[in-house]
Amino acid sequence: MKYIGAHVSTEGGVENAPVNANKIGANAFALFLKNQRQWVAKPYAPATIESFKKNCEIYGFAPAQILPHDGYLINIGSPDPEMLEKSRAAFLDEMQRAEVLGLDRINFHPGSHLQKVSEEECLKTIAESINITLEKTKGVTAVLEITAGQGSNVGYSFEHLKYIIDRVEDPSRIGVCIDTAHSYSAGYDLKTEQGFTETFAKFESVIGFNYLKGMHINDSKKEFGSRVDRHESLDKGTIGIDLFQRIMNDPRFDDMPLILETPDEEIWAHEIAQLRAFC
Ligand SMILES: [Zn+2]
Ligand SMILES: [Zn+2]
Repeated sequence: MKYIGAHVSTEGGVENAPVNANKIGANAFALFLKNQRQWVAKPYAPATIESFKKNCEIYGFAPAQILPHDGYLINIGSPDPEMLEKSRAAFLDEMQRAEVLGLDRINFHPGSHLQKVSEEECLKTIAESINITLEKTKGVTAVLEITAGQGSNVGYSFEHLKYIIDRVEDPSRIGVCIDTAHSYSAGYDLKTEQGFTETFAKFESVIGFNYLKGMHINDSKKEFGSRVDRHESLDKGTIGIDLFQRIMNDPRFDDMPLILETPDEEIWAHEIAQLRAFC
């Protein structure tokens, strides 16, 4: 089964996310668990939790169809001790929010070295942060998103993600999210059939499809290998529609959230219908 959706708004509360997803014909969705540009937020009211769960039940969203995204300020690979501590606390809060909502995964950008330490040092710090957080929570998988490699972001190669995975003590609670725009910008040629075949053969050999917990379905504004993270609506960017048709026809992407983060939310319903027509 293909679970297709978008990163929907939580305006008015997280309980509105499943409602908004249903409105655009989605059978999957992503959401922020709190304001993504602030460090702290109040805990959820019990009524919010109840309402979120009830709406998920009404509209038929199981945990495997939901991929929350953590906040933008968090850097659990930070070389700065104070920022690292703040990030770890915020990351734990995000994990606990997923846990109380009954969700089973949370997607995040691995981290940035800020030109102060090596990539390897940063990757080690990230793995340590994940271990600390997993120990204090249960039932939620930490899902590393591949990055475009913009600025000092690590996590722009399968090898980077594998390096972290290998250092996580509980392999059953670490996973990966492939963002198509990030991968293409990072230098994985997803545009051609041959590039698609080779990229995912490499993914299987370096990481393994058993770790794949979701996909972000985006075209890219920027050229192949640009290392710049700019999403575009499907078929309006540099990748083109063929990639998305291939993904929809490939059972390796079944039963996981396939999430649009494309810039024009007015056409999400159309994009979802278009993707579903490929299945
Ligand atoms: Zn992301
Ligand atoms: Zn993404």
